[in-house]
Amino acid sequence: MKEFDYIIIGGGCAGLSLAYELEIHNKLENKTLAIIEPRDEYKRDKTWSFWRVSEHNFDDCVIKNWKNFSVNAPNKTNFLECENYPYQSIDSGLFYEKINNSLKKNKNIFFLKELKDINTKNSFIFNSVPSIKKDFRNLWQHFCGVEIETENNYFDENIFNLMDFDCDQRESVHFFYTLPFSKKKALIESTWLSKMNDDSQKDYDQQIKEYIEKKLNLKNYKITYKEIFLRVLEKHPKRMSEIFFKMFQSSPKTIIKFLSNKSNFLEDLTIILKMPKWIFIKALFY
Ligand SMILES: Cc1cc2nc3c(=O)[nH]c(=O)nc-3n(C[C@H](O)[C@H](O)[C@H](O)COP(=O)(O)OP(=O)(O)OC[C@H]3O[C@@H](n4cnc5c(N)ncnc54)[C@H](O)[C@@H]3O)c2cc1C
Repeated sequence: MKEFDYIIIGGGCAGLSLAYELEIHNKLENKTLAIIEPRDEYKRDKTWSFWRVSEHNFDDCVIKNWKNFSVNAPNKTNFLECENYPYQSIDSGLFYEKINNSLKKNKNIFFLKELKDINTKNSFIFNSVPSIKKDFRNLWQHFCGVEIETENNYFDENIFNLMDFDCDQRESVHFFYTLPFSKKKALIESTWLSKMNDDSQKDYDQQIKEYIEKKLNLKNYKITYKEIFLRVLEKHPKRMSEIFFKMFQSSPKTIIKFLSNKSNFLEDLTIILKMPKWIFIKALFY
């Protein structure tokens, strides 16, 4: 049976990032690593977007940076700037290509489809495969995003819309998210936080069509790419649109640090004091 010093289960974002860090820090010179990944081929399947709160090795995979964004609730819009921590989008296809090209050069790294035939007894194992807990009390975050191309210039590519809550909520939490990559190209996502096994929000195509054609008033466009996502949330947030809108009344720099887990205690407090208190006090007792 084959043996390896390290085994990474799942060659997605987390697994490949770990392998890449080991590789570029010369940790695999005298060690063997097996990456267990069942997919047949890597292609763009996600667009990862985040605030650049720290340095990273993937500037060459960034397809767009923004220094301004907006948050909408019915009849109100908050315009914010994020010059210090620009928001960035990474094309997962470029990320996979960069990492795999680098890892393939190392003869100590092996790419396998499954764990069988490996003796794992003496290996350090990192399992990155997400586990889904089927607890019906949990909320689910699910979204569908489409990339569209318009015939004419339409988008302001300098500002993205983080959350537009001015849409059908259907007893759940629903918002649209728009990333304009150019004047003629944008990713538009319909995002839900809802109870598990509730299929009533899954008519994504229709929601997105209505948003594009009625809200954005766009007629001449074509869909060039589509992505779908589902994940369970451990908490039970309510009144999310109000919470998010209030949150974005703090300084953008503080909120970005807060959302990226980089804030200090005082910054956390500034944001918490802006929130509807009763929800958080009640949460202490659940
Ligand atoms: C469309 C989309 C957009 C997203 N956008 C963002 C974003 O903008 N920002 C953000 O922070 N997050 C985003 N996410 C969340 C995203 O899931 C994470 O950012 C990231 O991909 C998680 O990395 P991961 O390695 O945990 O999971 P993945 O990248 O999904 O990797 C898991 C890997 O495990 C493999 N695998 C599955 N089963 C097995 C098995 N039994 N054995 C071995 N391997 C297995 C899978 O094939 C996959 O390659 C997005 C997700 C999706 C789907």
